Amino acid sequence: MECISIFDMLKIGVGPSSSHTLGPWRAGRRWIAELKDDNVFQSVNAITIDLFGSLSLTGKGHATDIAVILGLCGYDPQTIDVSAIASIIDDINNKKKLFFNNDCYISFNPATQIIFNKEFKEFHPNGMTFHATLKNGKKISSSFYSIGGGFVVKEDRKREEKKMEKFQEFPMPIQKATDLLEYCTSKNKKVSDIVLENERSLRSDDEIDKRISQVWKVMLESMYTGCHTEGTLPGGLNVRRRAYDTHKKLIGATLYNNPTEWIEAIRDTEVKFRQILKWVSCFALAVNEVNASLGRVVTAPTNGSAGVIPAVIMYYMVIENHDANFDDIKQFMLVAGEIGSLFKKGATISAAMGGCQAEIGVSSAMAAGALTELMGGTPEQVLMASEIAMEHHLGLTCDPIAGLVQVPCIERNAMGAIKAINACEMALDTDAANAKVPLDKVIETMWETAKDMNTKYKETSEGGLAVKVSLSDC
Ligand code: SF4
Repeated sequence: MECISIFDMLKIGVGPSSSHTLGPWRAGRRWIAELKDDNVFQSVNAITIDLFGSLSLTGKGHATDIAVILGLCGYDPQTIDVSAIASIIDDINNKKKLFFNNDCYISFNPATQIIFNKEFKEFHPNGMTFHATLKNGKKISSSFYSIGGGFVVKEDRKREEKKMEKFQEFPMPIQKATDLLEYCTSKNKKVSDIVLENERSLRSDDEIDKRISQVWKVMLESMYTGCHTEGTLPGGLNVRRRAYDTHKKLIGATLYNNPTEWIEAIRDTEVKFRQILKWVSCFALAVNEVNASLGRVVTAPTNGSAGVIPAVIMYYMVIENHDANFDDIKQFMLVAGEIGSLFKKGATISAAMGGCQAEIGVSSAMAAGALTELMGGTPEQVLMASEIAMEHHLGLTCDPIAGLVQVPCIERNAMGAIKAINACEMALDTDAANAKVPLDKVIETMWETAKDMNTKYKETSEGGLAVKVSLSDC
């Protein structure tokens, strides 16, 4: 049984895409680890990289080439100084040299040594192959697949199974929502209690708290940065950042000096229904504008959908509960992570496999369930809220204009966040015993819909808005 930690669902990374940026970045690092394991790293003379399928079709807009290069240079997406990325890439382009794993220089021309192939690999739409020529002339290669949310696998699943072994030790293995509910009922516990018990089998309470704090810090900073940065997003679409203007009108003349004071300042603003809608949208837009400009965000469960969960947590903190503290944030993330993992196990969180329902739909379901528990909902209502949120994202296609994670992606986060709040409220007002659609059924339906969806709507930019609106129209 596949057991996934909440920290696999909520990963700190760099935008704009978890499958097309974070995944290829991590694949580059994993290839280097393989070369070292095989004792050939020091013998590498030249390298080339083949990108396939969706990674090729939307790779430029999603910065896949940049991500691969940064991975091969040994940078960690969690810690890299994002403001240095442009100069690192410029330097490689100018000198035609790459500092391989921060260890030795090899000649490298990104324009000719990263090859964009339109064909799809059979195993997964997001395939990539790294090739090396060794000093003795021998050629070796290794393929990886970015399966969504920054997860990377080999076609040969043996390595993955080995990696997963320690996760088999979860005291309460959960494959489906019904398993989760059974544990909650038999132990008379909340969803977050069950998830915490499982997480404790992997790491100490201190470590769990530390990692949740880091995740929240990045979420809060991405909202803060997005709300305080004006201008136009990179990529050529000329998309104006909107969080800045909306935020300016909402916050007025209130003074603050840092993200913590900012939360207090927002709590002091007047909020009626329209302001609530605007605040939630503003938080979501802010994160995804940061994401679109290669900034640091939390993959939740993907980068394209990174704004939904922070926006809903902030909604709870600044609108619903002014006394909210770390314990609430922790509870929220435990539930959200678990709901996301149910979708990963039963369907997909990859837009290249399932369209945008797999990104915005899943993030909305994660946020809806988590908010419901914080608002006092039962475990049944938590699952019901997640189900409602996904039910109304079924069939949502992925069609980013010019392959950039900007239109429709950024606005979609605002929509996903608002839907999550609405789904929560509906679930709280419903006797979950009367639910017609269990969460597991909607997960199955999402997967069936994903399989039936035309390939052009799965992160290829060959259908939908991506072909109706071209870069020259913008
Ligand atoms: S349309 Fe949705 S799934 Fe596709 S890139 Fe944008 S946010 Fe991601």
